[in-house]
Amino acid sequence: MTKLPKGATVGIFGGGQLGRMLVQAAHGLGYKTHVFDPFNDTPAGRIADTETTSPYENKQAVETFAANCDVLTYEFENIPLATIKLAAHITSVFPDALALQTSHDRLIEKTFLQDQAGAPVVDFAPIESMAALSEFVREFGAPAVLKTRRFGYDGKGQVKVTSERDVKAGFARLGGTDLIAESFAPFVREFSIIAARGQDGEIACYPLTENVHKDHRLHTSIAPTGDPQNVKGEAQAITRRILQALNYVGTMGVEFFELAGGKLIVNEIAPRVHNSGHWTMDAGCTDQFEQHIRAITGMPFGATQPKYAVKMTNLIGDEILQADALAKKPNTFAHNYDKREIKPGRKMGHVNEILGQA
Ligand code: AMP
Repeated sequence: MTKLPKGATVGIFGGGQLGRMLVQAAHGLGYKTHVFDPFNDTPAGRIADTETTSPYENKQAVETFAANCDVLTYEFENIPLATIKLAAHITSVFPDALALQTSHDRLIEKTFLQDQAGAPVVDFAPIESMAALSEFVREFGAPAVLKTRRFGYDGKGQVKVTSERDVKAGFARLGGTDLIAESFAPFVREFSIIAARGQDGEIACYPLTENVHKDHRLHTSIAPTGDPQNVKGEAQAITRRILQALNYVGTMGVEFFELAGGKLIVNEIAPRVHNSGHWTMDAGCTDQFEQHIRAITGMPFGATQPKYAVKMTNLIGDEILQADALAKKPNTFAHNYDKREIKPGRKMGHVNEILGQA
């Protein structure tokens, strides 16, 4: 493992809020930053040392970017695989193409989790026809969840099939092929584990983060949360196996369903810093963004044990207009992503409220 010297340049594909918080962390550790995004004046690009504006498909721009950076990473998983592979010929990219490829497609991801990481997942099957969906519902029962294999996020590209009679409508709504059916997990709660793995294989796990969704989008995260069914050890062991199986470098978010009786199911993995890890910024420990930069630059990890319990709430759309008032409240920290335009449903910022000692 070679540690990048201070002053070296960290390149980030993607200029959104996650990229922005990575830029802030990299600057804090003494690195320069360069952000690549199809749009200009992005939340991350605006505060980076250098901003490149180009489509991800522009090979020459990607090569020049890679040649000007000492290490590369990405802030979201819908970057074209070819872009990452091209850049990786020139400069190291963490997490690597395998992690990206695995998480691009829900079918590949679930198959990997089950077969290579020994992680529990729901029953699932590829769906290419209405007949296949009918058969899935007959075999595994309703409700089932039908999802697009690619480009789904925040509940987009998924429908619940509540009975056999629903099959036709559900299939029609997503249409066509490249779908996956999953059996519905009757969870008692959803939580995530944020963890990072270094180039030397060291793994640093944060405690359980309990997540509540609203309109299919993450609304609040509380950490560290209680563990009445004593599942933390198993959840961390599963997380470690996933990171090791991918030979992963960087921060990852692993989303779990917790069932009654303490059975765990992995819903999905995100090969990047994760919205449910934003509480770490104000918890009195090394935050997930710094941990990611530490991993990809070959620095040792910081502590993951929080001093404070924190409740993170996303500020969506014009909720961002309350950010300054919220920041005035004691023990409350508002983070504004500085997006140029407020749009309904858009993540504009988040607020971390300290609940007490961890
Ligand atoms: P996803 O886009 O896969 O992360 O799904 C978004 C949300 O939909 C999850 O956080 C769950 O609340 C719900 N969900 C997705 N898949 C399932 C499933 N198989 N069983 C139960 N709930 C699900």
